[in-house]
Amino acid sequence: MKIEKIGEFGLIDLIKRRVFSEDKSVLVNIGDDAAIINPSPDKLFIFTTDTLMENVHFDLRYFTFEQIGWKAMVANLSDVAAMGGLPKFALATIGLPKSISVENVISIYDGMNDIAKRHKCKVIGGDTLFSPKGIFISITLLGEVEKKYLVKRSGAKRGDLICVTGDLGEAQAGLEFLKKYPHRKSAFTRKHLTPLPRINEARILVKNSKISSMIDISDGLSSELFHLTEESHLGAIIYEAKIPISPNSIKVGNLLKRSPLLWALSSGEEYELLFTVGRNELAKLGKVKEKVRVSIIGEMLNKNEGVFLMEKSGKKRKLSKSGFTHF
Ligand code: ADP
Ligand code: MG
Repeated sequence: MKIEKIGEFGLIDLIKRRVFSEDKSVLVNIGDDAAIINPSPDKLFIFTTDTLMENVHFDLRYFTFEQIGWKAMVANLSDVAAMGGLPKFALATIGLPKSISVENVISIYDGMNDIAKRHKCKVIGGDTLFSPKGIFISITLLGEVEKKYLVKRSGAKRGDLICVTGDLGEAQAGLEFLKKYPHRKSAFTRKHLTPLPRINEARILVKNSKISSMIDISDGLSSELFHLTEESHLGAIIYEAKIPISPNSIKVGNLLKRSPLLWALSSGEEYELLFTVGRNELAKLGKVKEKVRVSIIGEMLNKNEGVFLMEKSGKKRKLSKSGFTHF
């Protein structure tokens, strides 16, 4: 059924029935002019928003509607993870072309809700509008964090170890694979289509070790490393040999004759966490590593020392925000 048939209010009603969930701290849920929530005592609010646009962030040739809802939610959940907090409530604004079916809109919400619920996050409102061209989904998320666990991009010190969760390159490898083979089912594409936010991992990190700075990898390792160094007024060196390159991205790299290292440095939408810890935290980090996959990939330097990649060959390359520069 086309959405024109049931109109904006009919659609909102369906969405409400699909995502509505009781919560004792939500005094007014979907259906009024705005949602009302009771703040938790002694916690700080985390407030973030992120938007996905058709043909910029997703392509319906290879994304299902569930997957675009899922991914839009993950972009927001990941921001909350990167601050050390827990997600709580979301508002979802969707722009829809008139031609879209009600079933497809519901699928977008199912995807959104699926990953949100796994992290106890609830959709409690939003806005619905018609878009003349393409779908967009803009989510605003409210999270919470205890003051002692809050981690910012600034805060790293010279000599701090640079660490990353999981492995890198697969989100970009998956995208390149899909561009070439849009209809082929493959294990290579999971991270591009349905990435996971590292919320549990971030909580384990902040509870068990003193994390001095943290950022989620939404634009690529190099780019995020620049953010950390800029915000902390430092330089950095990372070692090629220590970068956890995803085995799948190596396979796709071989297939497409592309460089998995470059993907690892520049792959956006990985949603892994890049963070720093003091060297005196090494023992605690060891304990964290029993539960979370963490790789130590480098260390923070003084600002005037620059930002470098040490290649396996021993050659030092200056990093740029989008990978490495050749010189
Ligand atoms: P208003 O015109 O006052 O903005 P709306 O009709 O847009 O009111 O929204 C009515 C209620 O439905 C609000 O609680 C709003 O948060 C909720 N809502 C509207 N669109 C969506 C949506 N796409 N997803 C979730 N909730 C929505
Ligand atoms: Mg509205």
